[in-house]
Amino acid sequence: MSEERLTALRTRLAGDDLDGYITFLEQDFSYLAGFSGDAGALVVGRDDALLLTDSRYIETAQAEVRGARTAQHGVPMTQDIAQAVREMGGERWGFDATAVTFDIYQRLQEKGVPLVPTRGVVLSLRMVKDEEEIAKLRRACSIAADALEEAIDRVRPGMKERDIALWLEVRMREMGAQGPAFPFIVASGPRGSLPHATAGERAFQAGDLVTFDVGCRYFGYHSDITRTVALGTPPAELQRVYEVVREAQEAGIAAVRPGAAARDVDAAARRVIEQAGYGERFGHGTGHGVGLEIHEWPQISSRSEDTLEPGMVLTVEPGIYLPGLGGVRIEDTVLVTGEGAQILTVSPKSLRML
Ligand code: ZN
Ligand code: ZN
Repeated sequence: MSEERLTALRTRLAGDDLDGYITFLEQDFSYLAGFSGDAGALVVGRDDALLLTDSRYIETAQAEVRGARTAQHGVPMTQDIAQAVREMGGERWGFDATAVTFDIYQRLQEKGVPLVPTRGVVLSLRMVKDEEEIAKLRRACSIAADALEEAIDRVRPGMKERDIALWLEVRMREMGAQGPAFPFIVASGPRGSLPHATAGERAFQAGDLVTFDVGCRYFGYHSDITRTVALGTPPAELQRVYEVVREAQEAGIAAVRPGAAARDVDAAARRVIEQAGYGERFGHGTGHGVGLEIHEWPQISSRSEDTLEPGMVLTVEPGIYLPGLGGVRIEDTVLVTGEGAQILTVSPKSLRML
């Protein structure tokens, strides 16, 4: 698998007139070389590749890495990188301009590495998932959806946001997850108008809407699901808003199919919210790709240039946020199939009044 992915990377590099590529990102180590460690550098030349790591990870690297040689680097690591680049040769070495620090850039340049800034070289390869990746994403999604259902059954007035967040994290680990995909969002009552409110000290009250945005990691792959539920009967406007968001989310998912422009998925969801008069209250993009990172390509927004292909995994997550009153977001992680979309985070979406 790693060999195929390195071959795909080299094809991409040749197309961009690059002789090699240097990455420091753990998700790239995992994707390109099968390495689970999070420190070091992967140096990929035209017909040689070297994974450099430190003494903490060298034994793991020797056991895991496929398609690349492994070596323990000295201090500073940039010395070893520069030497590998000299040995592999070439005049144009790519790196991710959005991920390399200025310090590393300067050190490599001082040592004569012919650096060329690039964007999204590996991200674009990672956009379309293979069968093995899809199986891991499926499991990550089913753990998150099942654990969230159990959590929703436990929600009671008086319980704090952070208590249920902790319970959810433990439950996901019991179900086989490595850990949470991100700090969970549990936003109750008026805090629901904050799209990224992490779980806090607020206790749930009757009449609250509660938004849960949660996910887990499974063998490095992430999941992402949001459900909003009510405790008792929420204000009439929030019930109306819930139905608008539900309709928008379903319209977004219905627009997911191979060949569709990602921005058309955003437009399909956004149109429903705009027509209901809440366009100004939906400030974020409709979704994002999910994989070895929680946010990766494709981008599902009005500015996206991405076109959907079978094997892409992405979220559809419109929301409406009303300051002082609360908010609603509904999110699924979906797989682009040969015909349309398959929801991986299966869980009810009609408004539940607990
Ligand atoms: Zn989410
Ligand atoms: Zn998301």
